[in-house]
Amino acid sequence: MHSKVVIIGSGPAGLTAALYAARANLEPLVVRGLQPGGLIATTAEVENYPGFVEGIGGFELADNMEKQAARFGAQFMDTLVTRIDAAQRPFVLHTDSGELISAETIIISTGASPRKLGVPGEERLANRGVSYCATCDGFFFRGKKVVVVGGGNSALDEGLFLTRYVDELIIVHRRDSLRADPILQERAFSNEKVRFIWDSTVEAILGDEKVSAVRIKNLKTGATSELAVDGVFPYIGHVPNTGLFEGLLTLDEGGYIVTDGRQRTNVPGIFAAGDVVDHIYRQAITAAGEGCKAAMEATWFLAEQEHAAKKAAQEAPSAALG
Ligand code: NAP
Repeated sequence: MHSKVVIIGSGPAGLTAALYAARANLEPLVVRGLQPGGLIATTAEVENYPGFVEGIGGFELADNMEKQAARFGAQFMDTLVTRIDAAQRPFVLHTDSGELISAETIIISTGASPRKLGVPGEERLANRGVSYCATCDGFFFRGKKVVVVGGGNSALDEGLFLTRYVDELIIVHRRDSLRADPILQERAFSNEKVRFIWDSTVEAILGDEKVSAVRIKNLKTGATSELAVDGVFPYIGHVPNTGLFEGLLTLDEGGYIVTDGRQRTNVPGIFAAGDVVDHIYRQAITAAGEGCKAAMEATWFLAEQEHAAKKAAQEAPSAALG
């Protein structure tokens, strides 16, 4: 399989790159990855993506983006890239289905994954009360009591979504003030289902078959206590999905791909966009903007390569004659 542009990841960055590359007649191939639609597809309501007066569901937004890119000829593949040979161009991508893809350019938009608490019980009780996706799992917590960990936009946004289902929502935050946007703070403070436990962390998640309680530590006093709950939703930030690129691309100390402001990585022909690059803004709209830039850069890169190849071909006979 060969493509002029292979896009790894299908969140707003990858899908916007696909739209632009498709409209440039490059017939991009999008490798969807583990999370089709990216993190936005697991977000209940998106209220700050311009153009949707009443907001739009995250899944619907991602689905629309994919359909729009497909309308102009983008192809999609459900597999995972396991290795990239970048020593020569075309690059060769190895996949878990065993298929090899050759690519003249690559746009990486593998995004970031929810950061884990790293406490006892978290892994063992994953999907048994521990969830990182309120949109996906909120329904299972009807009439229950759950804990959300974190004080950022995700914690409040997803927590407020959970109040549609749960009877009681407890937000455990390690400080005594939130970093979430004021509008979300106002909504949380005025929601009677929500209460806060400040200056505290979740030290352990308890339960045999499913979550039954959390052990909470007050960071100011050092006191620990147990709180009976049915679910735990950690929203404490993200880690970039860049394991695949270690040793191939320049990464910063946080593991994010370093680009030059024009979405170009240190390897000519490989571009990166979205949450895999950006640890500051991390918005669907900024990811989409970077996806657009990456696709335009890939288009220009391919045009330059083609021009250089034509020039070399024209000069070759005269050089032979000379
Ligand atoms: P975030 O803004 O980095 O917030 C992470 C939160 O988790 C912080 O409150 C942080 O505490 C806490 N935290 C971090 N590590 C922790 C640990 N080990 N134990 C306990 N608490 C910990 O991450 P986010 O909320 O996922 O948001 C990511 C980006 O997406 C942001 O740019 C955000 O604006 C954006 N976003 C926007 C919306 C929206 O606009 N509606 C919705 C969701 C996300 P401290 O505050 O003490 O650092």
